[in-house]
Amino acid sequence: MRTAAEYIESLRARRLELWVDGERCASPVDHPKVRPAIHAIAATYALAHDPRWRELATARSALIDAPVNRFCHLFVEPDDLVKKISLQRVLGRLTGTCFQRCVGMDGLNALYLATHARPEAHARFTAWLAGVQRADDVLNGAMTDPKGDRSRRPSEQPEAYLRVVERRADGVVIRGAKVHQTGAANAHHILVMPGQALRPGEEDFAIACALPADADGVRMVLGRQPSDDRRGGPDAGNARFGGQECVVLFDDVFVPRERVFLDGDLAACAELVEAFAGFHRASYGGCKPGNLDVLIGAADLVTREHGVRRASHVRDKLVEMAHLTETIHGVGLAASEKSAQHPSGIWQVDPVLANVCKHNVTRLPYEIVRLAEDLAGGAMATLPSLAERDHPALAVGLAPVFGSEARAKALRLLESMAYGAGSVPFRIECMHGAGSPQAQRILLERAIDWDDKVARARVLAGLDPDDALGELS
Ligand code: SF4
Ligand code: FE
Repeated sequence: MRTAAEYIESLRARRLELWVDGERCASPVDHPKVRPAIHAIAATYALAHDPRWRELATARSALIDAPVNRFCHLFVEPDDLVKKISLQRVLGRLTGTCFQRCVGMDGLNALYLATHARPEAHARFTAWLAGVQRADDVLNGAMTDPKGDRSRRPSEQPEAYLRVVERRADGVVIRGAKVHQTGAANAHHILVMPGQALRPGEEDFAIACALPADADGVRMVLGRQPSDDRRGGPDAGNARFGGQECVVLFDDVFVPRERVFLDGDLAACAELVEAFAGFHRASYGGCKPGNLDVLIGAADLVTREHGVRRASHVRDKLVEMAHLTETIHGVGLAASEKSAQHPSGIWQVDPVLANVCKHNVTRLPYEIVRLAEDLAGGAMATLPSLAERDHPALAVGLAPVFGSEARAKALRLLESMAYGAGSVPFRIECMHGAGSPQAQRILLERAIDWDDKVARARVLAGLDPDDALGELS
């Protein structure tokens, strides 16, 4: 397994085409807007070599008969799902941001089970996965298409979806874009998957395949984040880590046959999309509580510096923040504990609880951020730059404005997570990552057995006999 330093070095071997602020980036690894996100992924490597976390961060792969980083691992034991959530909580707390490796992990598990009943596709996929595990590579799980007019199907606006434009004996040519691509510029491979279930006639969009991140015709464009020009400076907020989203453009990219796992197989793609949604919606019950630990810690720190930590309303608000955080985490763990085994051998999360988990994530962190803003006071939004605080001409006058070093930096961290660069991989990702709120409601409406609830209500209302309990006396 790679170390953190080996991971960062390995990225330099790529000929990645990355655009940042209108310019082609000569060295993505060293760019100040890219590097914090690389550090967040590097943490996933560091944990695998740290005795405190090695057991959580690694697993034994039957595929290559060797230990692997958990982010390359298949969920072959029920405990793998639970350990995933626990690991994500640890990493979310250690980095305070998105560490970008879970889409790939959840995607490769979804693809493993979706190809299982197709022996040739499954063999191609597992051969590729074995290579990924041996190299301990990072995957960019590429699902979300630009989608254009949401009222129109992909076949009515093909340019808004990634699609196969040519099929050859030796492979396929794909064209289009994937958006909101978490960690794409820090990955070794792109794992292309459809972003939604597709209908007959939409086979060209039903493509799942893998390609190198620097394949010919792949271009990446870094997403902007609020205050991203602060990266690397005194006002960054999160001093070490950051998240990353890119647009990935596929300009007639050739994918050889051995890297094409699904092509036009609507049923397998539907299974893939649904399985992925379950895995990834539970994942948010790990990483986001970890991020919230940091947010709560920063808010708590400010109240200590303000001398109000013991005030009853402050204690009550902090307890509320922790209560809401553990509510998210509890459902993520429960979804993973209440798992079921797919015929492929992969363990799947409980779909209702996984969707409840992610649905909570679209709401509760907003209340927690509101409470953090309440506790922090207006200074989290109005503080001048720390460069001015440290300027000899202003230092004396500004000293009481900034207060302690802890206060100033905790406020900057809160600011970043609430609406600065850190809010992209935290707040807005809480809303839309792994599917927007309505996607969870649609699944919940479908998955919940409404008739069963009505049947029991009818019994207890005295409308129907009690077949479940019979006569009790
Ligand atoms: Fe992982 Fe969370 Fe980032 Fe998704 S949002 S990749 S689950 S850290
Ligand atoms: Fe995400």
